[in-house]
Amino acid sequence: MLRKKGALKVNQNHPVWHVDPNRSCGRCRAELGRIMNRGAFCKACKVRVCKNCREYNLKGTDWICTVCHKNL
Ligand SMILES: [Zn+2]
Ligand SMILES: [Zn+2]
Repeated sequence: MLRKKGALKVNQNHPVWHVDPNRSCGRCRAELGRIMNRGAFCKACKVRVCKNCREYNLKGTDWICTVCHKNL
């Protein structure tokens, strides 16, 4: 078990890079706040996105995320 030490080290250095998907934009990974800029769910793909990742319709009343907009 010569590799045990190495594996243990990797476990201890487990990256704290875990981003809560509920707290980040599903498109640009921007951090979403709890009160301001909380993000909203795209109607088409149900992904929570920040306000920068929305494409509004011509009336400005409805929107979908930028990715869904590109796929239209
Ligand atoms: Zn975004
Ligand atoms: Zn979408």
